[in-house]
Amino acid sequence: MRRPPRRSTVADDDAKGGFFADLFAPVAGFGVTFATMFRKVATQEYPEVKWPTQPRFHGRHQLNRHPDGLEKCVGCELCAWACPADAILVEGRGNDDERGLRFSPGERYGHIYQINYLRCIFCGLCIEACPTRALTMTNEYELADNNRADLIFTKEQLLAPLQEGMLPPPHPMVAGTEERDYYQGKVATATDEQRRWVDQHTSDRDAGGSDASGHDTEEAR
Ligand code: SF4
Ligand code: SF4
Repeated sequence: MRRPPRRSTVADDDAKGGFFADLFAPVAGFGVTFATMFRKVATQEYPEVKWPTQPRFHGRHQLNRHPDGLEKCVGCELCAWACPADAILVEGRGNDDERGLRFSPGERYGHIYQINYLRCIFCGLCIEACPTRALTMTNEYELADNNRADLIFTKEQLLAPLQEGMLPPPHPMVAGTEERDYYQGKVATATDEQRRWVDQHTSDRDAGGSDASGHDTEEAR
């Protein structure tokens, strides 16, 4: 059965618009464009201008040092076990005072330490797991590259630079201190005794041509 034709209402007449509305209808869509042209520009001139990140931004990792230069990492591998992306490789090794190979206070140090930034998702679980606060994250975010090898960061790349008053390991702990003294903030700087030890052993090493870095270059998984 055919329906009767619908009768026009007042609302239908309003929706049609008037003469001027019909005249400018084709350019009405440009209103948004013109309005945007006079707004403040949000484009950043990156990489010439780098905006600071939020203070707690998760960027590249850093392996921290004690105030005398010894490393905070004790090679416990907790960070590697906590990592959901399997991006960290750690191999611990024992400090050896007799052979002049002490890199951290206490028993062990991180002999091999690598982070694979092709896997890392910057979740921060590794730094939460670290018992010594050896591992933290910086605000550095420029980590792009065009090959795999350069995105596997080694211990040397991750170690914090030496600050004033620090000596490059290996060297002995501050005389008369224990491991806990370091974590209780009782060591403020390298002592003259440590300085003499480093000078002496550096010249001995140079004469003997040996490398006491104790670091390998094994590739991460
Ligand atoms: S930030 Fe997350 S993904 Fe990256 S190394 Fe740490 S635990 Fe692994
Ligand atoms: S960074 Fe921390 S959690 Fe990882 S091996 Fe070193 S001490 Fe252990």
